[in-house]
Amino acid sequence: MSDKLNLLDLTRDEMVEFFKEIDEKPFRAPQVFKWLHQFVADDFDQMTNISKSLKEKLKLVSEIRGPEIITEQLSDDGTIKWALKTKDGQAIETVFIPDGERGTLCISSQVGCVLNCSFCSTAQQGFNRNLTTAEIVGQVWLAARRIGALRTTGKRRISNVVFMGMGEPLLNFEPVVNSCNILLDDFGYGLSKRRVTISTSGVVPGLDKLIQQADVALALSLHAPNNQLRDELVPVNKKYPIEVLLPSVKRYLDDSSASKKVTIEYVMLKGVNDTAAHARELSRVLKDMPCKINLIPFNPFPKTRYDTSTRKDIEKFGEILIKKGFVVVTRRTRGEDIDAACGQLVGQVADRTRREERLQRKEGKISVKTVD
Ligand code: SAH
Repeated sequence: MSDKLNLLDLTRDEMVEFFKEIDEKPFRAPQVFKWLHQFVADDFDQMTNISKSLKEKLKLVSEIRGPEIITEQLSDDGTIKWALKTKDGQAIETVFIPDGERGTLCISSQVGCVLNCSFCSTAQQGFNRNLTTAEIVGQVWLAARRIGALRTTGKRRISNVVFMGMGEPLLNFEPVVNSCNILLDDFGYGLSKRRVTISTSGVVPGLDKLIQQADVALALSLHAPNNQLRDELVPVNKKYPIEVLLPSVKRYLDDSSASKKVTIEYVMLKGVNDTAAHARELSRVLKDMPCKINLIPFNPFPKTRYDTSTRKDIEKFGEILIKKGFVVVTRRTRGEDIDAACGQLVGQVADRTRREERLQRKEGKISVKTVD
């Protein structure tokens, strides 16, 4: 394994520091940074405005190492899912969801997850480790290379990035914050801060310090209108209950210029949290919260104890909230045929064989294609 510094790990400021350390002119750092993230270069030789001697020096002490593709699956609806391999052989998943000329990239922040939400398939995997900045940014870098989201071509297909893949972003704080800042940086991916979204199940200490470090859009996985039910669905609620969590979200919104409204995510579980009474209770809980509510039909996975709410119940639930003045969107399920939908991102967590079996089982049902 190489011990060279992976340049994808560095924010622009860190790259300036690194250039000083290796006795290079600091103004060269943003140029290299731009090559990495705007032109998504994977080779120093592509950097035409960088001198040969600097390139040679960089090659000696550093590298550009993105994740390796294990599989790339293309859904009938255009969704693309990558299983990606990290340096130590872990697998993570990244999903691109196109929407006309634009598209949302859903990225992972951890291998597995500790939070154990009862309706999420990632929870079944347990937790393995946090991803590094390079591994988080590397997902965007790789997707940009694969689907041609280069500014240079004028086709900016990755318009949004959401931390809604595997893991809890606020439990991997620094790498997530650094990654956000690389995504927002004008020398980096130059995304609008309203189009980079951290989705959290409600880790209050992380939320309380987020605004000082990164100003991005916020989504909250609420899923229940009271503590009793939320304790069951999202166990981290026992630590940070609703009456502690919502004020923390409110403080974030007050201080943020990216997120004036929080997106409330609410998974629709048949007979569990989807009745008219739940909808009314939710409207009371959220009455002072600037928000839009995203109803997510539950995506089932093997051995789950839950069912998806009926379409009628989802509509009824939404209508009650709309009547109370809320903006409600029901999320369309995308990429279902390739298990790319919410909560279906099952990575390989220190268990290669299970994944391999799974992929083999799937052969015949789906095709593993490349998308040049
Ligand atoms: N840990 C973060 C981000 C990952 S989950 C969070 O909890 O927000 C991204 C979203 O998908 C969350 O709202 C999550 O609750 C939802 N989700 C998880 N499993 C799901 C499933 N099986 N069906 C539908 N949505 C699910």
